[in-house]
Amino acid sequence: MSDCVFCSIINDDIPSHKVYEDENVVAFLDANPVSKGHTLVVPKTHVDNIHDASEMQYMWDALVEVSNALEKACDPEGINIAQNNGEAAGQEVFHLHFHVTPIYEGDELEIEYDRSELEDGESIAAAVKDNIA
Ligand code: AMP
Ligand code: ZN
Repeated sequence: MSDCVFCSIINDDIPSHKVYEDENVVAFLDANPVSKGHTLVVPKTHVDNIHDASEMQYMWDALVEVSNALEKACDPEGINIAQNNGEAAGQEVFHLHFHVTPIYEGDELEIEYDRSELEDGESIAAAVKDNIA
């Protein structure tokens, strides 16, 4: 897609710091990192989000590869993997991507959800199960 910033990075039309590339996937450093090594793992084929990614099983191998490399290169205390779908979920770039974010000692995770006790588990699980393809 011509107006997509990640397609432009994939095609080397704009600069980036790529750390991984194979036939289907590229990974590059996030331009506004949450922490040192914050990397985005992106399919070369443009899809907006996870709902169009049923044929992208290869993403997993790239995620594991990049996570292992970050573990060795940056020696973090942990690694967080996140993936936003839709504006309400915080998605700003509408080309599917996974954030792989090293977490260091003293880092304060800002992922805060208001948790509750699970209610209606049976009906929620049934509704989801009914929609599994
Ligand atoms: P999201 O909110 O999940 O859509 O995340 C989009 C991410 O893309 C943000 O973390 C941005 O910092 C990152 N980003 C946007 N433009 C660029 C770029 N040109 N190079 C690298 N990362 C970028
Ligand atoms: Zn794109």
